[in-house]
Amino acid sequence: MTGSTNAAALDAETLAELLQTIRRFVNERLIPAEETVDREDRMPEDILAEMKAMGLYGVTIPVEYGGLGLNAEESVQVFFELCRAAPAFRSVTGINNGLGSSSILYDGNDEQRDRYVRRLASGDLVAAFCLTEPDSGSDAGALTTTARREGDTYVLNGTKRYITNAPQAGIFIVMARTDPTKPGAAGVSAFIVERDTPGLSVARPDRKMGQKGAHLADVIFEDCRIPASALIGREGQGFKVAMRALDRGRIHIAAMCVGISDRLIDEGLTYALERPQFGKPIAEYQLVQAMLADSKAEMYAGRCMVLDAARRLDRGERVSVEASCAKMFASEACGRIADRVVQIHGGAGYISECAAERLYRDVRVFRLYEGTTQIQQLIIARDMIRARRGG
Ligand SMILES: Cc1cc2nc3c(=O)[nH]c(=O)nc-3n(C[C@H](O)[C@H](O)[C@H](O)COP(=O)(O)OP(=O)(O)OC[C@H]3O[C@@H](n4cnc5c(N)ncnc54)[C@H](O)[C@@H]3O)c2cc1C
Repeated sequence: MTGSTNAAALDAETLAELLQTIRRFVNERLIPAEETVDREDRMPEDILAEMKAMGLYGVTIPVEYGGLGLNAEESVQVFFELCRAAPAFRSVTGINNGLGSSSILYDGNDEQRDRYVRRLASGDLVAAFCLTEPDSGSDAGALTTTARREGDTYVLNGTKRYITNAPQAGIFIVMARTDPTKPGAAGVSAFIVERDTPGLSVARPDRKMGQKGAHLADVIFEDCRIPASALIGREGQGFKVAMRALDRGRIHIAAMCVGISDRLIDEGLTYALERPQFGKPIAEYQLVQAMLADSKAEMYAGRCMVLDAARRLDRGERVSVEASCAKMFASEACGRIADRVVQIHGGAGYISECAAERLYRDVRVFRLYEGTTQIQQLIIARDMIRARRGG
């Protein structure tokens, strides 16, 4: 299964029906719940159950493992729709659909796939992806968590930081250094660690700016002993596992940005048409129209980039650069769009009952996680330079 992707799963009509169903679910169930989720910082159990029943934890997971089996192009269209609601709803399912399942699907073995992937697809098992550490963020190759081989076990020690879903997760995909003599990425391996393993603990969830209801926390390993069979792929391949998962993950983040940008534009347009000043709706003023038009054009450009990157992935192409371009552009555009939509709302956009206020906070993180904007720039520019030098 290495490197492969799902073939197109659905004919055009079935895909259109699925997207319609998700749009209805978003409008009728998720958007009305957003304000409460933001205020209470908690996901309603009934909504989580509905998302499980709709297969939203396993959008990208092959049908043979109980997922919807959508290919990349189909999946991003699902995320465009789903992410018209506050991004926290996608975040709670996101690692199952992305970094968590893809590490096992594309780099794990049959036993690992059989043990975990079906439960990830159903949402009965939640995955977390542990790369970042207190002293290793953008410089992921500097990670210091160790996995020492002892007989047919490994012993993990170290701390992972800002781990999405850590409070709920049943499994943790962990990047750890198996060979301390090899600097940087070379000595890193990937492991699956089950939650009830002695020596693994999860700290109190961090309080954060937005995406309330989706939680993250430190994960601490203290002489945490796992079977050697928990290794994903081979020793020293962990960084490749992580980077391959991140290529897909960045396309998914970019798709989230497009979905939420679409919603923000809707909120801005609705308000501009309803709010009169100087005797007519503010939508009739050209300066307001410019904000709407710039936002629409940027959202459309992001959408095209995401679809192109997804189609390339489906063709089996390497998409690191395209994924970085899409993630960088769509996340930066989403930030600008959120800012304009708050501006269109005037003072109302600063008040917490306003969706624009909540979404403005929610989208800030897109420029930070799965590689900051600066790291995407480095990936893109380094590839350009390497290609020119013939490397
Ligand atoms: C809500 C949230 C959820 C997250 N979920 C996860 C998760 O599930 N799993 C996980 O492993 N991690 C997760 N992260 C961590 C996230 O991926 C990191 O925060 C991110 O990669 C940046 O690392 P850092 O925070 O250490 O920032 P730093 O690396 O310290 O960067 C600080 C600043 O310096 C800039 N910078 C750094 N190096 C360079 C350079 N060479 N050139 C130019 N500029 C540079 C950065 O762009 C940034 O602006 C999450 C973070 C957040 C906020």
